[in-house]
Amino acid sequence: MKVGVILNRVFRIHHNPLLAYICNQLGSTDTCVLIIPKEKFGDEAQLKASFYHGTLNAFINTLNHYQIQTNVMDYNHLIAFCKNQQLDKVVMASDIMSYHHESYDYPHQKQRFQEAGIKVEALRVQHYFSPRKTFNNQGEPYKVFTSFYKKWRPYVIERHRAHYELSDISKIVEPAYAPTQINDSHSGLTEKEVQQQWQSFLNNDIQNYESNREYLPEVLTSQLSIALAYGLIDILQVFNDLLHGYESNESNYEAFIRELIFREFYYVLMTQYPETAHQSFKEKYRNIEWVNDKQQFDQWKNGKTGYPIVDAAMQELNQTGYMHNRMRMVTSQFLTKDLLIDWTWGETYFKDKLIDYDNASNVHGWQWSASTGTDAVPYFRMFNPIKQSERFDPNALYIKQWLSTLNHVDSHLLHDTQKHMQLLKQQGIQLGVDYPEPMVNHQYSRQRVMSLFKSL
Ligand SMILES: Cc1cc2nc3c(=O)[nH]c(=O)nc-3n(C[C@H](O)[C@H](O)[C@H](O)COP(=O)(O)OP(=O)(O)OC[C@H]3O[C@@H](n4cnc5c(N)ncnc54)[C@H](O)[C@@H]3O)c2cc1C
Repeated sequence: MKVGVILNRVFRIHHNPLLAYICNQLGSTDTCVLIIPKEKFGDEAQLKASFYHGTLNAFINTLNHYQIQTNVMDYNHLIAFCKNQQLDKVVMASDIMSYHHESYDYPHQKQRFQEAGIKVEALRVQHYFSPRKTFNNQGEPYKVFTSFYKKWRPYVIERHRAHYELSDISKIVEPAYAPTQINDSHSGLTEKEVQQQWQSFLNNDIQNYESNREYLPEVLTSQLSIALAYGLIDILQVFNDLLHGYESNESNYEAFIRELIFREFYYVLMTQYPETAHQSFKEKYRNIEWVNDKQQFDQWKNGKTGYPIVDAAMQELNQTGYMHNRMRMVTSQFLTKDLLIDWTWGETYFKDKLIDYDNASNVHGWQWSASTGTDAVPYFRMFNPIKQSERFDPNALYIKQWLSTLNHVDSHLLHDTQKHMQLLKQQGIQLGVDYPEPMVNHQYSRQRVMSLFKSL
């Protein structure tokens, strides 16, 4: 028996169920081939591509260090390679949501293997709950987060994690047949760095997580989203660690666990309703007549809306590949509500730019903002970007961090620039010249959205 183990996006050597699978086969399987199909990225996703290549390189080097060789290839060559190797079956993760292209996901790949006559065995690797089990008392999928959380929170318990010796794996894994050349990159993360960051978060910032979560000028949250997107940390470890520390600070730990259950909820939802990747979850909002102004979309993408808080957030995204959660909510509401641009446009842009891109969390985050999703914000509770700015960045520290042209200006002038046009001019910022005028009038946009949604 010869088995192919596909390690796509599960870039960790410890507590990796795919590697544990190999160890469990010792004796019954003759030989194993490790395969990493390499993802492709377009020009618009260069920051993300660089992070991916750097992380993948580091992972391959670590495997090599333990004399474990992998076959790295393009997705296009995957089936031909497996046929050539005369594999009896392949084993792969069925629960990865962070691929750059939908066609890399489990349902698409499974179909390709089946058409080629190769058996597929699926393992749960990146998520805690199983979409096949998480139904409500009526046997239906959950549509509301609170009921999902109430029902499944008690099932977050200390769980056994996969253990194995890497030396055993090297005994059964065949040498590489395909070249393992990856694009050079100085970006990316290693499993070791992720462990250090996570332990440091547990020792420090989690103690104030509830308030830190809304603090803008600095990232005081865990940034675990990046590690989870590349399989650099085991979700069972994350929950086990949280349960260990829980009693030291229940409310902050619970707030954090709740967010991780949000990730689970969106994963389960996306698996049960895959069509929501492209269409509104709520049927009545499937035919919204979006304005979809291409020029306005470009202004939003480039951080030229004339609303400093929105522009700062878009700069953060474009320059770092990350955006604070509050700002993801503010910028997505601005695009869908203030500009009436289809949420799928914004979702695609975030996919290209976010290093921590996760299809389920991104799609449902966007649908929440657009009021088209499950549990979504009601359309009449539209964010006012000026109020959000005053409330979450009162001293304009975040704005100034990302918009250096506004650095010298009095902070209180930077929330409502239209109102303070004259004072801004006195401080060297002429709207329309040194910094854009607000591209839309929020009050007008609000009326437009209200009447549109009411009419549906
Ligand atoms: C429009 C929009 C798009 C988003 N796109 C993504 C995305 O592509 N990838 C992604 O991982 N998250 C996404 N989120 C959720 C959230 O913004 C990020 O998970 C969070 O900002 C990541 O930073 P962190 O790891 O420091 O979070 P922390 O606050 O430290 O949270 C810990 C973990 O909980 C989970 N989590 C936290 N908030 C949410 C949430 N609102 N929804 C689902 N899971 C959550 C994440 O796994 C996160 O790593 C999106 C939210 C919105 C509103």
